[in-house]
Amino acid sequence: MRVMLHACCGPCLLEPYDQLAAAHEVRVVYANPNIHPLAEYERRRDTLLEYARARGIETDVLPYRPQDWDAAVHGLEAASPSRCRACFRLRLGMAARHAAAKGFDAVATTLTVSPYQDLELICSAGQEACAAEGVEFLVTDFRDRYPAAVRRSRELGMYRQNFCGCRYSAIEAAETRELRRVERAGRRPQPEGRARS
Ligand code: SF4
Repeated sequence: MRVMLHACCGPCLLEPYDQLAAAHEVRVVYANPNIHPLAEYERRRDTLLEYARARGIETDVLPYRPQDWDAAVHGLEAASPSRCRACFRLRLGMAARHAAAKGFDAVATTLTVSPYQDLELICSAGQEACAAEGVEFLVTDFRDRYPAAVRRSRELGMYRQNFCGCRYSAIEAAETRELRRVERAGRRPQPEGRARS
């Protein structure tokens, strides 16, 4: 089977690619207009491309149009599961269109290696996106490979981001880190001291 693998970043590519490439012809597509700001998008992209080049992995980069992401999540900005589903739907829709245009049979995504992502949301968005383009969505669950992905990406010295990608996730991750810091210090968090306005 010819599989177009949507990749969110270099560290998440490692294990899913190796597993899929053992059984399929795999090409990678970087389609992530959710990532903010541009410098972060470029850093993740370049980390991915550097690894792909070293391994001889064929990779396509789709145009960065953050305005498409803004439109996709419009009205859902504060609603995390709904926002994330719209985000997955957009990115996997881009990958599905690209797969169909290139004559691929199926789409898979590296998003399912992360224990921090919602597997059901990813799969339902992926199935919807692929059905619209007439390609198959390959349901995967690579989460058991996450420790190996972390270990390998550290060994390779890859850039490892500490938030999912969009500007809201950057705020949410910073809030979570602050809460953990306060908890570690044995103090209760002060609401007025939180990052979000
Ligand atoms: S948290 Fe991640 S999956 Fe959810 S909307 Fe933001 S970038 Fe997309």
